[in-house]
Amino acid sequence: MRRKLIAGNWKMNKITTEAIELANGLKRELYKIDDVDIVVCPPFTSLEEVSEIIYESNIKLGAQNMHWEDNGAFTGEIAPAMLKDLGCKFVILGHSERRQYFHETNEIVNKKTKAALKHNLTPIVCVGETLQEREAGKAFDVIQDHVYNSLEGLTSEETDEVIIAYEPVWAIGTGKTATPEQAQEVHHFIRGLLKKKYSEELAEAIIILYGGSVKPANTKELVGQKDIDGALVGGASLEIKSFSEIVKNASIS
Ligand code: PEP
Repeated sequence: MRRKLIAGNWKMNKITTEAIELANGLKRELYKIDDVDIVVCPPFTSLEEVSEIIYESNIKLGAQNMHWEDNGAFTGEIAPAMLKDLGCKFVILGHSERRQYFHETNEIVNKKTKAALKHNLTPIVCVGETLQEREAGKAFDVIQDHVYNSLEGLTSEETDEVIIAYEPVWAIGTGKTATPEQAQEVHHFIRGLLKKKYSEELAEAIIILYGGSVKPANTKELVGQKDIDGALVGGASLEIKSFSEIVKNASIS
């Protein structure tokens, strides 16, 4: 039985004092939740402070990106061990904003995914089509390309550790959410791809999140779909109230 997971991607928001306030508020609101995994992904600059606040709580820490090399002359980059050192357990990779604005390709996402696994960080690998691609009838081809090529060369044991986030680009930060049926269709398709490449057992075990304008009001219906195991939340993860409500709505207790 797959557990639900709700992850908040704070993106390039919150200076450290604000991050501290948000983390403290979430800890206060969510300490009773035990049937949903909760992850927050602050910017690099407040990982340490948030890590201290959520230490030994039911909230886990993630980062929003990292480099694939262990160390070296990569000015401005962050290595996997640096994230581990600060208490990160998760790292978002291949977010569409990274693919779009920083030209991250599947090949780069693949290198980062392998590096995360090598360092015992759980990669949250983002996949998803643009509006243009959906309208051209290419959504499923794009998703297949993202899934297969981002995970290229991973053993089934490694793939089993990966979390996939289906985030249609047209639904990110736009207020347009995929309908639960649209999202379910893609999640089912992704499980089918994994079944074809690995096994039915792996396809059934892997966690697949939906992302794209998730709000308290649409959480229950989205995470209630058979193949949707939770959400990657952007905008609504920036407020104590909305993120806590999303987590509570994903909880069955
Ligand atoms: C995201 O960026 O991962 C995301 C899903 O953003 P939003 O919830 O704001 O659409």
